[in-house]
Amino acid sequence: MSAIAGKVVAITGASSGIGEASARVLAAAGARVVIGARRTDRLESLAAAITAAGGEVRVRPLDVTSQAEVVAFAGFARQAFGRLDVMVNNAGVMPLSPLAALRVAEWDRMIDVNIKGVLYGIAAALPIMEEQGNGQIVNVSSIGGHHVSPTAAVYCATKFAVRAISDGLRQETDRIRVTVISPGTTTSELADSIGDPTAREAMEAFRAVTISPEAVAAALAYAIGQPDDVDVSEIVVRPTASPH
Ligand code: NDP
Repeated sequence: MSAIAGKVVAITGASSGIGEASARVLAAAGARVVIGARRTDRLESLAAAITAAGGEVRVRPLDVTSQAEVVAFAGFARQAFGRLDVMVNNAGVMPLSPLAALRVAEWDRMIDVNIKGVLYGIAAALPIMEEQGNGQIVNVSSIGGHHVSPTAAVYCATKFAVRAISDGLRQETDRIRVTVISPGTTTSELADSIGDPTAREAMEAFRAVTISPEAVAAALAYAIGQPDDVDVSEIVVRPTASPH
């Protein structure tokens, strides 16, 4: 049995891409997964597939911009399985644009989902894990959390913030493991929400080479599977053939 088997893992943004792949990979390794997102039809199909493959899964509708919903999500995981071992703050959005386009509502959305959503995830999981005496918080940042790319100033700012928050959290606790996963370009629906034509064009070139979401899920599984006294602080996983 791997160190993943039996762990209770709650994943935000599990209705597509990296979150969905992570739920499948972790459930196949024996984790008991709790999946949340807004598109519940997607979550239900994913849950049916995981169950059919012999995995254990629970579904909970979730909008990470509501602190109350994130608290309820973590509480639901504990109620369903008796504990919460890992909280994966994965939900994210990327409606890119040049700053001069002043798409302020999209800046707000990125800040609300990518930063405040992660903070709400920490706020929801921390009291449960403190009470248990252990746990792991996995926050999904990006290579965009390491350097800024064209039209991505606000998105990258949110991903820099995720790394800063994670590092601060890691320094403040010696019982809870804190992991950042920073993917490079990965096949998913993330770029579909880019409405600005300049950013859309820039991203087509930037995202020409991608890795599979399962490759990112494997990195996540590695970090979760380590012994309790080993904190995998960050994994950067990117396409071999991409300069970014
Ligand atoms: P997808 O667009 O495929 O998945 C994003 C997920 O986030 C969906 O499940 C979506 O579910 C969920 N989500 C968005 N808004 C909310 C919300 N308000 N409440 C709850 N869930 C929400 O993209 P990825 O799988 O690529 O993205 C996952 C993470 O990986 C993000 O944090 C992204 O920034 C990061 N990342 C991705 C990279 C890539 O190239 N793909 C590279 C680096 C980092 P729903 O709409 O159903 O709510």
